[in-house]
Amino acid sequence: MPITNLLGVHALVWTAAADSASIDAACRSTAAVGYDLLEVPLLEPAEVDPVATRASLGAAGITASCSLGLDFDTDISSTDAGTVERGARLLIDALEVTSRLGADYLGGPIYSAMGKYTRPATTRGRANAVRVLRELASEAATSGVTIGLEPVNRYESNVLNTVDQALALIDEIGADNLVVHLDTYHANIEERAIVRAVHTAATAGRLGYVHVGESHRGHLGTGSIVWEPVFAALGESDYRGPIVFESFSSAVVSPAFAAALGVWRDLWTDSHELAGHAHDYLTRHLTADVVGGAE
Ligand code: MN
Repeated sequence: MPITNLLGVHALVWTAAADSASIDAACRSTAAVGYDLLEVPLLEPAEVDPVATRASLGAAGITASCSLGLDFDTDISSTDAGTVERGARLLIDALEVTSRLGADYLGGPIYSAMGKYTRPATTRGRANAVRVLRELASEAATSGVTIGLEPVNRYESNVLNTVDQALALIDEIGADNLVVHLDTYHANIEERAIVRAVHTAATAGRLGYVHVGESHRGHLGTGSIVWEPVFAALGESDYRGPIVFESFSSAVVSPAFAAALGVWRDLWTDSHELAGHAHDYLTRHLTADVVGGAE
């Protein structure tokens, strides 16, 4: 079967630098491996030059998606008005860069800080997140951008850990351009079954973006995730959105980012080898007729 999904790779597989030369090199590497899409992190939107990025994407013949996570200083699920306001402004800035560099998707853990909370989310904090995301979705709709909410594991958020929770929050926000951004690494920790999570989001008509990450966030197929049923579920649910490989190593990411995500040991150091391996793995599995378990 031909692959109907865009295959992508997260820019942090290549570089943590946001300057135009680094982004251009990441675009070239992405295309050289055979990917269709580069996910550009917008943790600091002002550092990304949308005009240069757009040109690099075009020259490489690939498209982009954008993502970010908030931190405790920009946490829109906070009860502190100033913190919520900073988060809202960051998201609007990220949306503007997304649109200017020609992407139509902005997602990630954008509903709370990406970090370990020591208490449950509060009703007031959650209401703040709902309000900010409603405004963000409304603004995004004017430029044709889809907003994705990515549930992450319990050590990285206290707001959304599962697809069911993401769907409930989407219902509460009530916008058509909101989707679930499903990440297998997180789903493997929190969901009853990754396959069930895929079907639940797809049946709700809200599965919009998929991160493929191994259980240890290293090479695909070398951890504990059983991939064949996952790819079969994506096929069965007729998922047509991007499938994007995500993996982090302190060989690339900053010490602060590594600390936020608990990257305490490196599963790889060679970006090209890793990205090539992931592309081969995805291509092989997505073209195999895995529906029904036959491969
Ligand atoms: Mn992810």
